[in-house]
Amino acid sequence: AIEISGLYKSFGANEVLRGVDFHVAAGEVVCVIGPSGSGKSTLLRCVNLLEEPSAGTVRVAGADVTGPEVDIDAVRRRIGMVFQAFNLFPHLTALGNVMIAQRKVLRRGRAEAERVARENLERVGLADKVEAYPAQLSGGQQQRVAIARALAMGPEVMLFDEPTSALDPELVGDVLGVMRGLAEAGMTMLVVTHEMSFAREVADRVVFMDGGVVVEEGPPAQVIGEPAHERTRAFLSRVL
Ligand code: ATP
Ligand code: MG
Repeated sequence: AIEISGLYKSFGANEVLRGVDFHVAAGEVVCVIGPSGSGKSTLLRCVNLLEEPSAGTVRVAGADVTGPEVDIDAVRRRIGMVFQAFNLFPHLTALGNVMIAQRKVLRRGRAEAERVARENLERVGLADKVEAYPAQLSGGQQQRVAIARALAMGPEVMLFDEPTSALDPELVGDVLGVMRGLAEAGMTMLVVTHEMSFAREVADRVVFMDGGVVVEEGPPAQVIGEPAHERTRAFLSRVL
């Protein structure tokens, strides 16, 4: 589970998060939507400590990741993150890309890392691409390698920051399909997305952010279907 309370983050005078509270229960899928600049990426980056919160607390699987004694590397191992840019190593195959952090960070032996990598590449539908280099893969396939790489670390939660927004439209469905499968398998997921149909169909709850605060949250049928706030309605009328 992820519990965020009273989270603030400023960059100089720019107050980007202004008191964010919400939680993602174990096994739950929460989608975060909102306009550009509303603080969605900053929120995710505070959860896995790519940014240091200015105030507030974030707990992941019961551990206070914002506490003074936090072991940042241990926290990051429990959190899988998938970004818009896949950031694969171009000189490594799909298999090599999924093995490297297991070897270097978890210190797994070669055979075990390879077994886990193959399992996860199969899980994302790339069993036949293990020997391919990133340049030989489509964007959607590269993003699925990135998902397999995150899963291979055995995370307790997965964070996704617009994982399909750099993809050609015909490749989006495969990546969303993999994410849907993860959700069905019970993974705890916090997903920033512009894909309203995914949010509507897969999310347990949707959080609408604007101006660094949560404006409203609830089941997708409520937040997307019958938004209570004018700011939510205005945003949805632009994206739907
Ligand atoms: P988008 O939908 O465009 O991805 P977002 O909701 O993810 O937007 P953020 O990337 O969280 O928005 O950015 C929110 C604000 O924080 C913006 O005004 C941005 O300029 C600022 N910001 C984000 N990261 C930094 C940084 N490292 N240094 C300074 N300002 C930053
Ligand atoms: Mg963003």
